[in-house]
Parts: sequence; structure tokens; C-alpha cells
Amino acid sequence: MAAPRLTVLAGPTAVGKGTVSADVRARYPEVWLSVSATTRAPRPGEVDGVHYHFMSAEQFDRMVEAGEFLEWAVVHGRHRYGTPRGPVLTHLAAGDPALLEIDLAGARQVREAMPEARFVFLAPPSWEELERRLVGRGTEDAEERERRLATARVELDAEPEFDHVIVNDDVRRATDELITVMGLPTR
Ligand code: 5GP
Repeated sequence: MAAPRLTVLAGPTAVGKGTVSADVRARYPEVWLSVSATTRAPRPGEVDGVHYHFMSAEQFDRMVEAGEFLEWAVVHGRHRYGTPRGPVLTHLAAGDPALLEIDLAGARQVREAMPEARFVFLAPPSWEELERRLVGRGTEDAEERERRLATARVELDAEPEFDHVIVNDDVRRATDELITVMGLPTR
């Protein structure tokens, strides 16, 4: 098995990054999933410290100024999201396979900071399917959906920058492929 290292999972909005990474975690509890900081408000059911570290713009500014982010970005032109650096380094030092689920701008920053990481792009089976998933999720209003689809068009073009492309046609199959890419033992 390859030595544990950082895996960055990126891909357009609503492609299913959250579902695939949750499936990896469910089957491989030893995989550590980074908890991002964000300035957006929690959605119903989201728990602070579990899904995100929810914080004010001022708190986020302080972390940026203190250099505490491995990467951060404004996502969908609105809120800021960032990966706290400390926990990533701690888990990698402990030998835990680590997974980041972040946007394209963030993935590019991680590539600068940690070129040895592996970069995985989760792609939708088709553009129509991506639109269908975003509408079906029902968590965003029409304006927010349009904003996210505009970002998604740009993000899809970045696919060739990645080491691996996984098509999320089926969550179980996509997760199996990610597990193989991460060098985890088959179970
Ligand atoms: P949501 O608001 O739906 O939870 O997430 C919106 C987007 O933010 C997702 O596409 C996700 O990949 C991205 N995102 C979540 N956490 C981070 C992070 O720590 N850094 C960056 N750059 N993007 C993130």
C-alpha cells in the first residue's frame, strides 16, 4: 500500500463530493476528513465542528492573518471557505490518510503548497445530470443555483489539471474508485 498522503477531492457543485467522501469515511473510519471553516450560515441539520467550523467574517479574517489556512477561497462569489492547516499536518504526521473536499481555487493553492498531494476531480456523468442534482437538492434558491451553475461551468473546464478523474455515475462505484486511487485496502 502507498504511504498515506493527502488526497484533494474537487469538482463542481452538487456533483456529490460530500456524499462520496461520507461514503469513504463510513467504510474507512481511519480516513481523516478535514473540517473546513466557513462564513456561510449552517443549513438545517449541520453541526458546528462536524460539518464545518461556522464563523463570522471577523473570525475568518483573524485566521487568514495568522496564516492558519492551508488554503482558502471565496466560493460561488459569496462566502469564504478554508482548510485549517494545523489539523492537516497533525494527521499526516500521524500517518492517517487525509481527505480534503474543496473547490477548484482551493485545490490549486494546495497544489502550490503540497505538490506531493494527489488531486482527484469528481465529474458529473453529464451537464444535464449536474443541473438536475442541483435542483433536486433543494437547498438553494433560484439565484443561488444560477450562481453555483456559473461556477460549475468554469470548474468543469479544469478537469485536465487533475491527476485522476472519477465520474460520479453511481456513489458506490465512484467511492470504490476513490478508495483505489487513495491506495486503501479493498474491503
Ligand atoms: P457548501 O456551501 O455547499 O457546503 O459548499 C460549497 C463549496 O465549498 C463546495 O463546492 C465545497 O467543495 C467548497 N468548500 C468546502 N470547504 C472548502 C474549503 O475548506 N476550501 C475551499 N476552497 N472550498 C471549500
